[in-house]
Amino acid sequence: MLGPGEYVPDVTEGITRVEDLPRPRIERRSRNYPARRCRRCGHRAGRYAVAARTLHDLGDPRSGRPVDLVVSYSKHRCPRCGCHFSVDLADLALPKCLYTRRVQRLAVRLVAEDGLPYQAASWHLWRDHRVFVPYATIQNWVEAAGEKTPGGHARRLPRPSAG
Ligand SMILES: [Zn+2]
Repeated sequence: MLGPGEYVPDVTEGITRVEDLPRPRIERRSRNYPARRCRRCGHRAGRYAVAARTLHDLGDPRSGRPVDLVVSYSKHRCPRCGCHFSVDLADLALPKCLYTRRVQRLAVRLVAEDGLPYQAASWHLWRDHRVFVPYATIQNWVEAAGEKTPGGHARRLPRPSAG
């Protein structure tokens, strides 16, 4: 009989093909508005198109499945100044990034705070959070985060003392 603390390998242990991993659950988000205020001049800017962006988010550890956010967002044109812009998604993800900020922050913490090597951090993110991030991508994030702090190293937070 299995007891508490028994070692049970992850169900995906040994899978070598990405196609064999559990399929992501899709969660839809809408940032689709009929009009927004122009960023440059403040005039009302009507919607002229709708686009969508897929972001890999932290997965669902209960079902063991990844979660992808599909965010639909509107694009706007200002009739006064001619400026074009899309609705701001920067709170969800950095421009052009395939992952949410939540995933990025967690990945950087695993390396900068917990001292995990990149490959171990990549496996941890998959095993415990069901998001697949190649370790080279994590390395890019950590290096970018390190460049923003004095000394060029990712900031290490003091660990809480035991007891
Ligand atoms: Zn304008």
